[in-house]
Amino acid sequence: MNERINCLIIGSGPAGYTAAIYAARAGLKPVLYTGIEPGGQLMITTEVENYPGYPQGVQGPQMMEDFRMQAERFDTEIRYAIINKVDLTGPIHKAWTDAGDELEAHSIIISTGASAKWLGLESEKRLTNNGVSACAVCDGFFFRNMDVAVVGAGDTAAEEAMYLSKLCPTVHLIVRRDEMRASKIMQERVKNTANIKIHWNTETEEILGESEVEAMRLVNNKTGEKTTIPVKGFFVAIGHKPNTDIFKGWLDMDEAGYLIAKPGTSKTKIEGVFVSGDAADKVYRQAVTAAGTGCMAALDAERYLGEKGIV
Ligand code: NDP
Repeated sequence: MNERINCLIIGSGPAGYTAAIYAARAGLKPVLYTGIEPGGQLMITTEVENYPGYPQGVQGPQMMEDFRMQAERFDTEIRYAIINKVDLTGPIHKAWTDAGDELEAHSIIISTGASAKWLGLESEKRLTNNGVSACAVCDGFFFRNMDVAVVGAGDTAAEEAMYLSKLCPTVHLIVRRDEMRASKIMQERVKNTANIKIHWNTETEEILGESEVEAMRLVNNKTGEKTTIPVKGFFVAIGHKPNTDIFKGWLDMDEAGYLIAKPGTSKTKIEGVFVSGDAADKVYRQAVTAAGTGCMAALDAERYLGEKGIV
């Protein structure tokens, strides 16, 4: 017979581990599958200074280690494997691991997160965490009083540029077309902020610097003209991709793939399946908000399993 789990948690970022802590303490005996990147996006962050309870700040990987240990302390079973298929047809949900094992679950908490999109430059990869970042709210503070760049032209790029404009003397916004995709109001804000300099029709050819970002070489894709501009921080804001492909066809999602929960809850349209964290959040995307929704999902799962008489 296949293994039957009360509460299957998919994903190991702040949402998944928080869900595990609550579910385990409620006696649900959760089993958590870590996914491809155990610890999630915080594993590629350095200092986290905005998570309450760490007055001195904490390294992202250390914080995730703390989350993991807290989840394990209450007997969460953590498995370092990937769930790559689900079947949500019946009241007992099915899931398959990358090793081909079939699982059955009375409830599932989805906390698969999202991944930042990157430009794909070698220098971008090499300098990630040494000036290259995908999160101004997380890392902007380290670049106060320094010139920085933001790549992108959507609402995220506009918000990041506005955020950084309060900390940095000049914010270079690098837009690949001659218009922005961001909402009108955000575009107006960006254009009316004196220290945001917009570079239209411009792409990044290279980020320069050996061990930290020193400058960027830009190219105008209309004229071919190249310019090198000194910056200390380089923020990539060209979108995120929620890790929700395996739920396509089963659950409601928006056109970008973000899962849609019933307002004010973690519930999906399928009974016993709950969402948390960045997989269902394209607006806030913070560790603390992910943890909050992980807690909601565990409480919703506990109530559901109680009502069904399963635990
Ligand atoms: P979007 O997909 O909206 O925008 C991505 C931007 O990045 C586009 O302008 C795109 O350019 C640009 N881009 C993509 N690839 C490259 C590349 N290789 N080089 C240079 N530029 C590139 O992503 P967002 O993260 O901005 O927003 C996602 C969703 O979340 C949107 O619906 C947005 O409205 C929403 N959101 C809402 C917020 C709010 O309500 N407060 C805050 C943040 C986001 P191009 O335009 O040329 O395709």
